[in-house]
Amino acid sequence: MGHRRRVPGTRRQRLSRRLADLEGRLEDAEQQLEQVENTLRGVLREANDVSLGGPCKCGESLLIVRRRTIYCPRCRYRRAI
Ligand SMILES: [Zn+2]
Repeated sequence: MGHRRRVPGTRRQRLSRRLADLEGRLEDAEQQLEQVENTLRGVLREANDVSLGGPCKCGESLLIVRRRTIYCPRCRYRRAI
């Protein structure tokens, strides 16, 4: 292997910067998710005929329950209840 000495800690420093960057982005994403959840709760309180079910099988949305119908706003899933 080469005669050049590797600068100690460089790879570790790069990884730790990357980790700090990811942690920051995760915190931002968590805050955005909380904002959306709180907003959604507020909207649902005002719309008395709409409520939320569990996650749809497509995995892209929760199910919406409205007028005895449960449906997914992202895929074609829909059924009467
Ligand atoms: Zn769906």
